Amino acid sequence: MLFLLTNDDGFDSSGLSIFAKHLSELGEVFVVAPEHERSAGGHAITMHKPLRARYKGTAGKKIFMWETSGTPADCVVIGLFDLLPRIPDLVISGINLGPNLGEDLTYSGTVSAAMEAHLCDLRAFSISLCTFDQPKWEAAAQIGCAIVPWLLRFPNEFILNVNVPNCSLADIRGVAVTRLGKRRYEERLTKREDPFGRSYYWIGGFPQQFQPMEGTDEWAINQRMVSLTPISLDLTDYSKLRLLEDARGELERSFSKT
Ligand code: MN
Repeated sequence: MLFLLTNDDGFDSSGLSIFAKHLSELGEVFVVAPEHERSAGGHAITMHKPLRARYKGTAGKKIFMWETSGTPADCVVIGLFDLLPRIPDLVISGINLGPNLGEDLTYSGTVSAAMEAHLCDLRAFSISLCTFDQPKWEAAAQIGCAIVPWLLRFPNEFILNVNVPNCSLADIRGVAVTRLGKRRYEERLTKREDPFGRSYYWIGGFPQQFQPMEGTDEWAINQRMVSLTPISLDLTDYSKLRLLEDARGELERSFSKT
């Protein structure tokens, strides 16, 4: 098997190198990752300046490593269309340090790399470890490796977003197939003053603490279960089509009166 492995934490992240080592027991791993951290960079692609890729050598016989000046989505495109010797069996993004849950997916560089692979008609999954403190990478890497052959049985019509609780394999209580939950932040914007008396802003807060709905990704993580959410890129809110259709004529008439 051949894997394209990327992330948004950057080439030097532990989650990437540990997962590459584990994956190399299943096949060849081409690591193509951003040279700097790109967390919360979303699905950006770089269209207005040149991109570079640097070969960083091998790690063992089956890991080939590149870093690029681009985003996670750029890495997928450069890897697929130039660096890899053939089309990979699977594109994998992670293991991310920190969760990728609920509405945070709209910010996620990790998940966006998997989305980009999906847009290239490839199977892809993203995997995140739900902690920022003392990550238990080994357990998450073993779960990631178990997902590989399991996922390959399905048609590549969806992206799988995986979140793993930060505990040992023995403490994980199972696997839950979930939907995206809600994710809201407190103290999202901090305003401060620099040494020259000018104000500046810092974005980023803490997730609001509330009881997640049963069946959501955050609920599964709180239950110490691995969360598997199938993701689609169709953002249409089908429940609102009828509501807008019923009121459509009124809008049309409001500007077509002559
Ligand atoms: Mn990240």
